[in-house]
Amino acid sequence: MRALVKAKAEPGIWMERVPVPEIGPNDVLIKVRKSAICGTDVHIYTWDEWAQKTVPVPLVTGHEFVGEVVDVGQAVSEYRVGQRVSGEGHIVCGHCRNCRAGRGHLCRNTLGVGVNRPGSFAEYLSLPQHNVVAIPDDVPDEIAAIFDPLGNAVHTALSFDLVGEDVLVTGAGPIGIMGALVAQAVGARKVVITDINPVRLALARKLGVHHVVDASAEKLADVMDEEHMKEGFDVGLEMSGSAIAFRDMIEVMNNGGKIAILGIAPTAFEIDWNKVIFKMLTLKGIYGREMFETWYKMIALVQGPLDVSGLITHRIGIDDYRDGFEAMRDGSAGKVVMDW
Ligand code: NAD
Ligand code: ZN
Repeated sequence: MRALVKAKAEPGIWMERVPVPEIGPNDVLIKVRKSAICGTDVHIYTWDEWAQKTVPVPLVTGHEFVGEVVDVGQAVSEYRVGQRVSGEGHIVCGHCRNCRAGRGHLCRNTLGVGVNRPGSFAEYLSLPQHNVVAIPDDVPDEIAAIFDPLGNAVHTALSFDLVGEDVLVTGAGPIGIMGALVAQAVGARKVVITDINPVRLALARKLGVHHVVDASAEKLADVMDEEHMKEGFDVGLEMSGSAIAFRDMIEVMNNGGKIAILGIAPTAFEIDWNKVIFKMLTLKGIYGREMFETWYKMIALVQGPLDVSGLITHRIGIDDYRDGFEAMRDGSAGKVVMDW
């Protein structure tokens, strides 16, 4: 089969021929229809320090996908050939304390599809049945193809009660914008999103986020005045990985505020911990999706009030993958969905 392979320990990803993955008794073989590019894939493409430490070479990359079941192992009873599916890209061990307590997203032995084991930029993907998620007929392929990042946004946004709350989202990348739209869909009072990239700010405005702020030009204190917010934000969703954005967020949180942190900073950074203490803030780190509550709620949201289709800015054929990676790299894309 054809697949996008991280074939060499140097910048780039290459289209190669590789064997179709074999399936074990508990696995499902999926023919991939569409696969989207994640920021993680861009790190693997550029071969930064994190990728060099993490990714074994050669490896088939990619983990955001939708496809169709074409074969199932002997022990698989829940899925059948022809079914349309996506799936959870974090493979958990099943025997650590958290897994056995039903908290798979906290597994300390998590392996990533397309990061530690073969991924979805391929004609076929093998996935344990536990990780497969059936897609209802009324959810379009291209939306199911971005369930992985949408799940990150839903997990982060639904970490705290948002009904009637004032929410600050730092970073209007695809996941930040999704998080803001989720907050609006579930009944937040005010939703403010910040970024410093004009393309991202324009995309957030186009998708209808209530208040879009250029953090390089406006102060959040002034935004609070404009919004008649006297006390501060109740909930923060950190989606930028920027130390500056995180410090700004802490500054404008109300006492007792809650912050869910998804953004990954390139290097360690300092914050004023006394502000966290005297404001009595709650901080929660988020990695991936909750298995499988996030999937359940995300599917309900896209079947209901949440429309994220406007985030897909590039729909391309797999042979144009280099253009897709380039658009991701220069910040001009929302989501790039590739057709197999
Ligand atoms: P992205 O890089 O496309 O978006 C980040 C945005 O933050 C960019 O638009 C950037 O311009 C903006 N930004 C940079 N500095 C800023 C500042 N000072 N103030 C406001 N905005 C600023 O990333 P994404 O795909 O939307 O993902 C969001 C973040 O979540 C990234 O840091 C990513 O690495 C991380 N991530 C984490 C997980 C996880 O499981 N924890 C999973 C996926 C992605
Ligand atoms: Zn585990």
